[in-house]
Amino acid sequence: MNMISIIEKKRDGKTLTDNEIKWVIQSYVADQIPDYQMSSLLMAIFQQGMTFNESAWLTGAMLNSGERIRLNNIPGIKTDKHSTGGVGDKVSLILGPIVAALGVRVPMISGRALGHSGGTLDKLEAIPGFNTRLSIPEMKKEMAEIGISLIGQTDTLVPADKKIYALRDATGTVPSIPLVTASIMSKKIAEGAQRLVLDVKTGRGAFFKTQDMAEELAARLIAIGQKHNLPATALLTTMDQPLGYAVGNWLETREAIDTLQGKGPADLVEVTVALSSLMLLAAERVSSINEGIKLAEKAIQSGQAMEKFLEIVKWQGGDTTVVLNPALYPSAASSMEICSPSAGYVGEADALIIGQTSMQIGAGRLKKEDDINYTAGIVLRKKVGDTVQKGEVLAIAYGNTTGLLNAHKTQLQQAFKIVAKPPEVRPLILKIISGSGEQAWSAA
Ligand code: URA
Repeated sequence: MNMISIIEKKRDGKTLTDNEIKWVIQSYVADQIPDYQMSSLLMAIFQQGMTFNESAWLTGAMLNSGERIRLNNIPGIKTDKHSTGGVGDKVSLILGPIVAALGVRVPMISGRALGHSGGTLDKLEAIPGFNTRLSIPEMKKEMAEIGISLIGQTDTLVPADKKIYALRDATGTVPSIPLVTASIMSKKIAEGAQRLVLDVKTGRGAFFKTQDMAEELAARLIAIGQKHNLPATALLTTMDQPLGYAVGNWLETREAIDTLQGKGPADLVEVTVALSSLMLLAAERVSSINEGIKLAEKAIQSGQAMEKFLEIVKWQGGDTTVVLNPALYPSAASSMEICSPSAGYVGEADALIIGQTSMQIGAGRLKKEDDINYTAGIVLRKKVGDTVQKGEVLAIAYGNTTGLLNAHKTQLQQAFKIVAKPPEVRPLILKIISGSGEQAWSAA
């Protein structure tokens, strides 16, 4: 087989075979295909899409690029959650500890920042010493001892996703249904999860802006899960403005800690508690969504979830001092205020522009090898629907230099629209989709 003809075949809209896909993945992981050829194939897949079979073969090939974790010795229904990517989406850092504190076993392989969206691994690694690169025996030990493990792909665990993920991030090939599906599902199947809850984002700051596209993605993820005996439920949620107020790694970890301490913003709490309740239901820990919501809220209020977060940080080598006292964490060298040009209501706080700006001022990677500045990012002072006076601060951007921040000022200002009348805000949680059908969240 040769890579050029496979690229040309996909470029011309033809269907690849299982063997061709296996060969590409194996050869790329073995460093026998250069990044420039793989990037070209990714772009062809992005442009032409993939049939359901190709998507399933790609997921299988990526899954089999490394080991599969067997968690048979660990009791209970192992349950995980994954988001399709959003801005300010620090839900996993809060939900993992909530659900684990309630006795559900959570094996969680997450990803790094991708495109304009943040990544759970980068947020965790903002805590000094936090190790997301555990070996499989270490991960199993943590699962057995504290019921949860928050790790990333390694050279032995879905190595194909580790390499392709980083390449997609830097080549404009993120928002592709087959690529996102294979990336998410290969990790979730490899980690040994038996149930999966998906947070499928739609809106301005999501990879799939329209509800139709997001629903197509949800259907593909669920169908691939079914093929691999991994039942999945998707919650369709809106991502028009950032979730919570903080965007950027440490800024988000800090907001997650606040939320675990019962001081979280309403939208972040709403989505986190809803997804936690679906996990509790999937793990047969509760028998209704309402019961799950009450239990999840109680786990925050009682401090149980925060205790579990501290246990995870300790277990994975992180410095609990900054978790217990976030004020000790160093601040970014520079900051810049974005002020309202007029009085009125915040009509838009565009999650895409805010996510892109945050990435460009140091919270993400513009090239594969770039380092992240954990203190960089943006903190909103106002959200959609809030009233604002002329000159009042809408957001503060944090970064290494004043020059870098100033260069992004106009761009960030454009994220905010000030309107004369209270704007209509669509619901944060739209619907639940599963293998057996769908239901409006308001009716659940
Ligand atoms: N999360 C992933 O793990 N992969 C994607 O491609 C998008 C979101």
